[in-house]
Amino acid sequence: MTDQHTGDQTDQPDDQPDDQPDGIEQLDDAGVTPMTNEALFARSCEVIPGGVNSSIRAFKAVGGTPYLVAHAEGPFVWDVEGTRYIDLVQSYGAIILGHAHPAVTAAIAQAARSGTSYGAPTPGEMLLAEAIRDRVPSCERVRLMNSGTEATSTAVRLARGYTGRDRLVIFHGNFHGATDALLAAGGSGVATLGLPGTAGVPASAVANTMVVPYNVVPELDEQVAAVFVEPVAANMGVVPPAPGFLEGLRAECDRVGALLVFDEVITGFRLTRGGAQAKYDVRADLTTFGKVIGGGLPIGAVGGRREIMETLSPLGKVFHAGTLAGNPLATAAGRAALGELTGDVYMELLARARQLSANLRDACAAAGLPAQFPVVGTLVGMYFGDALGNAAPTNFEQAKTTDEQLYAAFFHAMLREGVALAPGAYEALFVGLAHTDDVLDQIGEAATRAAAAVMRDRT
Ligand SMILES: *Cc1c(COP(=O)(O)O)cnc(C)c1O
Repeated sequence: MTDQHTGDQTDQPDDQPDDQPDGIEQLDDAGVTPMTNEALFARSCEVIPGGVNSSIRAFKAVGGTPYLVAHAEGPFVWDVEGTRYIDLVQSYGAIILGHAHPAVTAAIAQAARSGTSYGAPTPGEMLLAEAIRDRVPSCERVRLMNSGTEATSTAVRLARGYTGRDRLVIFHGNFHGATDALLAAGGSGVATLGLPGTAGVPASAVANTMVVPYNVVPELDEQVAAVFVEPVAANMGVVPPAPGFLEGLRAECDRVGALLVFDEVITGFRLTRGGAQAKYDVRADLTTFGKVIGGGLPIGAVGGRREIMETLSPLGKVFHAGTLAGNPLATAAGRAALGELTGDVYMELLARARQLSANLRDACAAAGLPAQFPVVGTLVGMYFGDALGNAAPTNFEQAKTTDEQLYAAFFHAMLREGVALAPGAYEALFVGLAHTDDVLDQIGEAATRAAAAVMRDRT
């Protein structure tokens, strides 16, 4: 599979930079030759397990060798071979303004000149926490940390510490990062109690975690500390909450005194200015954030009701700490990103999400490739194959009937056409401010050729 990702460069628009991008110069200095994806990935595999620092990047779900990114700008990434892709990965949603947005890079550069980490409080972290609270009123207090995973694991500890209960409820097909207590495998369709979702998670770590079907309000009891939910599920394709689902969770949590935790690591500041809580008008007790709030730098946050949040140390009994938490570069980048995200921008993103979905749908329909691209606000999902018909999935049982092989074929065909999708059938398409109408048209044209190629090869 040597030539799957190199693409045919002759028909690429010629707005590539004249000089080699910075990343490549640095690699040349480091003596990395030859500059091919194959060679560099093979070398990475000799030092980094699987060659990647986050599993999905290894292309295991779609086959082939990943491209290694040299640099990126706006809607584009360039790999180390100089091939340009229109990028719909956008760091799995961390990037919303486009790559290397001038406001964000300027804020990072300015912050870096003042030092990169202090181990003392800063005005910058205060300002980012205020910016989050301004947009999401349920977050009366906000604690910053370094990743979405750290946010969900802190929310687990906080919910348990605050309520004095151990039991957690999560939904099949939702994803909350690499947090042991939330890495429980769900059975199909029915509520199941904690089986470890991966090796290395002891049964005891998930013994108190119930996995229940998405979009059905479970009946809780007074052992439950918290219900964790992706208010729009964006890690099984994109599945909207059924009417009444989030309201039902709110009422059921209130009935038994459990906390409702919205995992807004993806939806926060992407779905609307106030995230899913604003769109659906349901208030969470705790909210976890990540991705967009760091402008592409490592960040996470937990926000929530003052009384709950002040159970965190140093005020309360639930421990939390982090050497780099509230990092000045990450908070500067996050403030710059949020500052650009005005109400008009979300209107624009809604229109672009619809346009992207329509372009992909039309392209696949023209080729007779069975696929659907559901839109939930600014998020676009994708499902392939005949199993679903025209009905968009409402839970993981249905989502996983997507044809993963067909997706892999479409993924590679798109890559050959110069469009990078996520290398996994259950990821969302992340449309951002850099995906102009012109770029969306180019994606549509690429998809028309890619879908035709997939159908040609499908015998
Ligand atoms: C990405 C994601 C996480 C984990 O965030 P990281 O920064 O990757 O640790 C948690 N929850 C949801 C819903 C996510 O999409």
